[in-house]
Amino acid sequence: MVEVKLLRYTPDGVKLIAESCRVSGIPPNIPDEEVVRMVVENDYSSVLEHIVFTFDISGISVAISRELLEHRIASHTARSTRYHDERNFDYVIPPPIRNDPEMVEIFKEAMESARKHYEEIFDRMVEKGYGKEKAREVARYVLPMATHTHYVWTINARSLINFLGLRLCKRAAPEIRELAQKIYDIVVKVYPEIFENVGCRGYNLGLCPENEARPKDCPYRDRIPLKKDVKGGWKNS
Ligand SMILES: Cc1cc2nc3c(=O)[nH]c(=O)nc-3n(C[C@H](O)[C@H](O)[C@H](O)COP(=O)(O)OP(=O)(O)OC[C@H]3O[C@@H](n4cnc5c(N)ncnc54)[C@H](O)[C@@H]3O)c2cc1C
Repeated sequence: MVEVKLLRYTPDGVKLIAESCRVSGIPPNIPDEEVVRMVVENDYSSVLEHIVFTFDISGISVAISRELLEHRIASHTARSTRYHDERNFDYVIPPPIRNDPEMVEIFKEAMESARKHYEEIFDRMVEKGYGKEKAREVARYVLPMATHTHYVWTINARSLINFLGLRLCKRAAPEIRELAQKIYDIVVKVYPEIFENVGCRGYNLGLCPENEARPKDCPYRDRIPLKKDVKGGWKNS
């Protein structure tokens, strides 16, 4: 199960955002919290880049770490499979089958088979004199995408809102949605002024850009319109 810890974050973030806005011309009599809420709501978001969070993320699969890596406006550090012996690798049981004992059993067999092959390749290469480093370097190629990895991830508040918008959406893969929700639950406590009114992209924009791809089980289906309907509306008037 994915675990998230907040390692560091920019202190006095609300004050810092408000101060930055005042340099640009926001009147000094507007309270800091109100300035921040307006920045988020109106998407005057460049000032949010001054606020940075660093998370320790463990128990996520290599598959999902690749999706995390797609978020380029962030800094990424992952555990090396070259330097770590992965013989005892732990792995993610994908959320959709967690409550299906038959599928869990089949999945676990696949993981054990990969572990056996990892060990076989590693041990045989060491016996043949390749050395442990080369053996690790080669054996890791048979690790499954479900293998746990460990991540340190630094991201600014603007980019984090973009990440949450994309990954809290029902269309996102269940494991990264789980990660996004855990991150959200942490940051909304630290800076409610920034994150209280943040959700999936549809929630943030007040219309869903997924259009036909919007999933049937979207919780906002009856409340947030599709982008194509809103955009089409003014074109025809
Ligand atoms: C449901 C879902 C399905 C997906 N399916 C796929 C898939 O099938 N294949 C796949 O490869 N990816 C897929 N992705 C990943 C997706 O395409 C993005 O790569 C990922 O979500 C990162 O988003 P981003 O580019 O906004 O974030 P970041 O890389 O963090 O960028 C943040 C913002 O900075 C700006 N930016 C960053 N780099 C550039 C640039 N080079 N030029 C101009 N502007 C830039 C953009 O405004 C961008 O939104 C999927 C994502 C989701 C949520």
